[in-house]
Amino acid sequence: METICPHCRGEVPREAKYCLHCGRLVDNFQYCQECHEPISIEAKRCCYCAQKVPTDRDVQIQSFNKIIVADRLGSFLTGRGGFTNLFHPPRLEVSHGRILVTKWSFFGLREHQQEIRVDRVASVQYTQGIIWGGILIETFGGATEDINQKGFDQADAREMSQKLKEILSV
Ligand SMILES: [Zn+2]
Ligand SMILES: [Zn+2]
Repeated sequence: METICPHCRGEVPREAKYCLHCGRLVDNFQYCQECHEPISIEAKRCCYCAQKVPTDRDVQIQSFNKIIVADRLGSFLTGRGGFTNLFHPPRLEVSHGRILVTKWSFFGLREHQQEIRVDRVASVQYTQGIIWGGILIETFGGATEDINQKGFDQADAREMSQKLKEILSV
C-alpha cells in the first residue's frame, strides 16, 4: 500500500516514517492552520511561517463564546449606573479569547467598553450577593484592569465564572 507525501506529493509506503523522495517526515504530522504546510504533530510553532500551534487550552479558550446580561433591577441596585442600568443593563461577553464588559453612561448616551485578553486573567471569582450574583476578574495588569461586575442572575454569574475558571485553569 502506498500513500502520498504531504510535502512533495511523492508516493511512499504506508508504513514509512520519512519520505523516500524528499526525506521529510510523513508520519505524525498536522497541517499548520495559518499556511497549511505539513508540520510535526509535536511542533509548538510552524517551521514555515512561525505561527504558534494552538494548544488544547488555546482551542478551548478560542471556542468558548458566551454573553450574559445583568438583571435590570439587579444592576440598578448594585451598580453605579443608577437608572441607566434599568434601561441598559451592563453585559459581559467572552468571545475569541477576549472578555468584554459593556456599560452605558447616563441614560444610555454613551457606551463604555472594557476589554481584556483572557491571558491577562489572574483569577476569577463568583461573588455571592443576597439576591444577585457578581463576577470578579483579577488581572495581571493590576486593579485598574480588573473587572468587577455585579447584578447578574446568580445562576448566570456562577456558571460564567465556573466556566471561565475551568478553561483558564485559574
Ligand atoms: Zn516527500
Ligand atoms: Zn505555517
